[in-house]
Amino acid sequence: MTLELKDPTLLQSHAFLGGEWVAGSRTFPVLNPATGEKIADVADLTPQDVATAIDLAYDAQREWRNRTAKERCAVLLKWNDLLMENQDDLGAILTAEMGKPLAEAKGEIAYGASFIQWFAEEARRVYGDVIPGHQADKRIVVIKQPIGVVGSITPWNFPNAMIARKVGPALASGCSFVGRPAEKTPLSALAMAVLAERAGVPKGVLSIITSSDSKGVGLELCTNPKVRKLTFTGSTEVGRILMKQCSHDIKKLSLELGGNAPFLVFNDADLDAAVEGAMIAKYRNSGQTCVCANRIYVQSGVAAAFAEKLAAATAGLTVGNGMDQGVNIGPLIDTAGLQKVEDHVSDAVSKGARVLTGGKRSDLGGTFFQPTVLMDVARGMKILSEETFGPVAPIITFETVEDGIALANDTEFGLAAYFYARDISTIWKVAEELESGMVGINTGLVSTAEAPFGGIKSSGLGREGSKYGMDEFLEIKYLCMAV
Ligand code: ADP
Repeated sequence: MTLELKDPTLLQSHAFLGGEWVAGSRTFPVLNPATGEKIADVADLTPQDVATAIDLAYDAQREWRNRTAKERCAVLLKWNDLLMENQDDLGAILTAEMGKPLAEAKGEIAYGASFIQWFAEEARRVYGDVIPGHQADKRIVVIKQPIGVVGSITPWNFPNAMIARKVGPALASGCSFVGRPAEKTPLSALAMAVLAERAGVPKGVLSIITSSDSKGVGLELCTNPKVRKLTFTGSTEVGRILMKQCSHDIKKLSLELGGNAPFLVFNDADLDAAVEGAMIAKYRNSGQTCVCANRIYVQSGVAAAFAEKLAAATAGLTVGNGMDQGVNIGPLIDTAGLQKVEDHVSDAVSKGARVLTGGKRSDLGGTFFQPTVLMDVARGMKILSEETFGPVAPIITFETVEDGIALANDTEFGLAAYFYARDISTIWKVAEELESGMVGINTGLVSTAEAPFGGIKSSGLGREGSKYGMDEFLEIKYLCMAV
């Protein structure tokens, strides 16, 4: 298929290794999930290529870290500008390889760029400390220094933003970066690299390694001693493997892993606002985000009314190719994703759940699934214990505030949680008792560059975005000086 781009050079199929565009000796195809058509054959690099990229990143980092923060800031701001100038093309590439509606894809480009911009600005505010000494002749000074070479592994659901959230603070702090995008969505990452090069990111400071060998590349990033930090977004299962692999030389780790977000609606909530929030929290990216509302708990006094409103709004969504005007729900990423969603729905229905709207594959075929609302969902159904990663909203009724909190916390995960209520005591109680890294209160959208994104329990380690996100790429060094 041909993609109509204003700047066709943004569609790169070579990998970006240490500042050179390399073809590799093999390729792998990238397919459009809406049509099944091939978009490109992309360089399939090897673990040995990764080792080369790491060597180059190691050497380049010596020079990059010694630039002033103002100089690094200028390069990153230029990169941000170029990303925004090319938002339409980058959005089109993203929709083509990942499937999300074009408006959402362009939104992701702006969201991703906002992390490059935020961390460009933060580069100049990496302050240390001077601490009163413990003895009369001692001075204690704390400085922060970039960790070194950073390895990154990212998933397909946000092919731009997941990388931007990592590469922004890495480069701003003076680290270099070797990233492996998901094999399903390497084109957005390569387009970012085209613009990074134009913005003046020095050779070697950034590599984008496209490869179908996730395990081999992952192992090299985890075990190469020149890599001092690994940052990963993906499943808890793979996070566990990477954590083990990184234990050999005690690499620093940031892990953004699976979620199973609860969305609670209490009796005193503004129901229309709650429905609006649920639509965003549930159906963004066709339900394929780790912060998507996966379990919707509604207090008994408003359960029937909420379910009716949510089902009506859901029935109004348009399913289709993300490139088409007015589409809200694109295809699921692949057949395995589709089968999981279908399995969760049929398991729930076989155990007594009622389908209020949707419930099956779309007539469009492919990996399209109808946006679905299920009522009378109960404990023991797979849909409550596993991440569905699709456009299905399961509603569970609860009685008291305490019951709602207990149900919400009944999971090994702790990434995002959302709730709608108006009573101020309920709001504080629920906000404090929910076991999750992020809580949306009367809102269904919490992600932004200014705030710390991350999870607790099996949802991960570390934070992305905000001043805390910068610390993940810095080491603290304490200088004790006798005078
Ligand atoms: P998702 O469900 O989002 O695909 P995964 O954890 O399976 O989550 O994948 C996230 C990223 O990790 C993808 O880029 C994938 O290719 C990569 N990956 C999967 N398995 C491994 C592994 N054993 N080592 C390194 N990377 C891996």
